[in-house]
Amino acid sequence: MEIAALGIDVGSTTVKMVAVNRAGALVWDYLEPVAPRVSRQVDDFLAKLGAKIGSLAEIPLVATGYGRNLVQQARQSKTEISCHAHGVFQELGHGGTLIDIGGQDSKVIVIGARGRILDFAMNDKCAAGTGRFLENSAARMQIPVAEMGAVALTATEEFTITSTCTVFAESEIISLLAQGVAVEPILMGLHRALVKRVAAMVRSVGLVPPLLLSGGVVKNPAIRKVIADETGEEVFVPTHPQLMGALGAALFALKLAD
Ligand code: ADP
Repeated sequence: MEIAALGIDVGSTTVKMVAVNRAGALVWDYLEPVAPRVSRQVDDFLAKLGAKIGSLAEIPLVATGYGRNLVQQARQSKTEISCHAHGVFQELGHGGTLIDIGGQDSKVIVIGARGRILDFAMNDKCAAGTGRFLENSAARMQIPVAEMGAVALTATEEFTITSTCTVFAESEIISLLAQGVAVEPILMGLHRALVKRVAAMVRSVGLVPPLLLSGGVVKNPAIRKVIADETGEEVFVPTHPQLMGALGAALFALKLAD
């Protein structure tokens, strides 16, 4: 395995590391929930890769994400906005409006035809438009987060969730379940409530098609479908949506190689 550069994305929920070859193709990746001591966690990631390929001494590492400044091993740090845009532009090969939905934040980035960032908006203050919104309810509904989307898509009707706050939405679900409302329509309503928050952010920036998606939450098929519904746009998703920030960081690191 030829490795020319490394990128790490320390997100609000997960840490992702990606290795690229000289051509910028993704050749290795690793993902874990964020640990309390990020620097030690990065050492563990590097040791895992080192055990596979030998010395990493000359291979540049760039860090991004919420906790990027905690990565002492990195040669540089870059913003999440620039890394997500860079990663998605390389993977999909064109610009557009990128929606990234992570565990505790969401962003909208307008990417120009040559990959330049034209505009962006970010929400890291409110859990409602993020993965946290679904995670809170997953436990309550006893459905794993990774299965929520598939279950929601089996719904034949949809129950509107009126609370925009994560905490109140959870109370609303408890009360709906107590009234005997089925899980599927509630789940579909939850997905729509999350997407409506993100769609409002898209409108505030202005949607320039095509619509591109990244972040762990867009692995959920119901989220992808409801985004397409709410925006009226076809959605384009890279093969590894959760790794786009780390890939962008690795591509910046590639520029530091040699
Ligand atoms: P961050 O960069 O903010 O740490 P990520 O982009 O890694 O966030 O996304 C984490 C979120 O993605 C979590 O809320 C998690 O529940 C969700 N997620 C991860 N994998 C899946 C999956 N297979 N299906 C649905 N949601 C997922």
